[in-house]
Amino acid sequence: MSTGSVVLVGGGPGAEDLITVGGARALLEAEVVLYDRLAPHESLQEMAPNAELIFVGKRPGHHAITQTEIERLMVEHALRGQRVVRLKGGDPYVFGRGSEEVLACNAAGVPVSVVPGVTSAVSVPAAAGIPLTHRGVSHMFTVVSGHAPLTDNELLHLAGLGGTIVVLMGVATLVPITQGLVKFGASPDLPVAVIERGYSPTQTTTISTLASIVSDAALAKVNSPAVLVIGEVVRLAHDGNADAAELFARAQHFAGAP
Ligand code: SAH
Repeated sequence: MSTGSVVLVGGGPGAEDLITVGGARALLEAEVVLYDRLAPHESLQEMAPNAELIFVGKRPGHHAITQTEIERLMVEHALRGQRVVRLKGGDPYVFGRGSEEVLACNAAGVPVSVVPGVTSAVSVPAAAGIPLTHRGVSHMFTVVSGHAPLTDNELLHLAGLGGTIVVLMGVATLVPITQGLVKFGASPDLPVAVIERGYSPTQTTTISTLASIVSDAALAKVNSPAVLVIGEVVRLAHDGNADAAELFARAQHFAGAP
């Protein structure tokens, strides 16, 4: 029996039209799809009409499948000769453990390829009207995982960069990251946006400042999944609470509009 293959597909931030043409093609040809919670999955069976769909994400109240188990399933199906798509949220190589899955395929002698995806780091801010760069405002962005708290040294350098900071998985570590940035020299007035559930019908944006985001996020009951954007570009947001309108008015002024 000949060996099948694995394609790691970046599914984008959850909207069905934000998967790439290459990703959609791989789904059409798939015989097995292993998918996550954050990947687009509402019409997955239509996108992958010939595939067995296997959910391998975390679901509240359910025992989470381990990374080792996911890799085992992926390799096992491919070794049976099947065309496997591993559908992941955003881009497979941005905090997605995609590289580990590639290594697992390599180790098992399974042919593997990667179709990049639209990362939430860039697209979820855009859903709230926030560009990560804007001429004269920010010419860089740094994407950080909030999975574990940053070290003092990392906070010092991040605060010193002066560009846009994007934090994924940052809801649980909102306190240390915002307080840490202020401690190491960032302005307490620096605008912060938290965009929850980007591209879903319940997308919500909370806009505040480094000094106030912790209490504002608690008031708004901010929850995962969410992307944090820290920086002056947040003033360009078109989506959000009342403060955003005020910040936006100032941004217009800032941009030289009447
Ligand atoms: N590989 C993914 C990121 C995986 S880490 C990518 O490139 O997008 C998971 C984190 O991504 C979440 O905790 C959240 O911070 C962010 N995220 C992914 N999709 C999101 C969405 N639709 N809305 C808000 N945040 C999202």
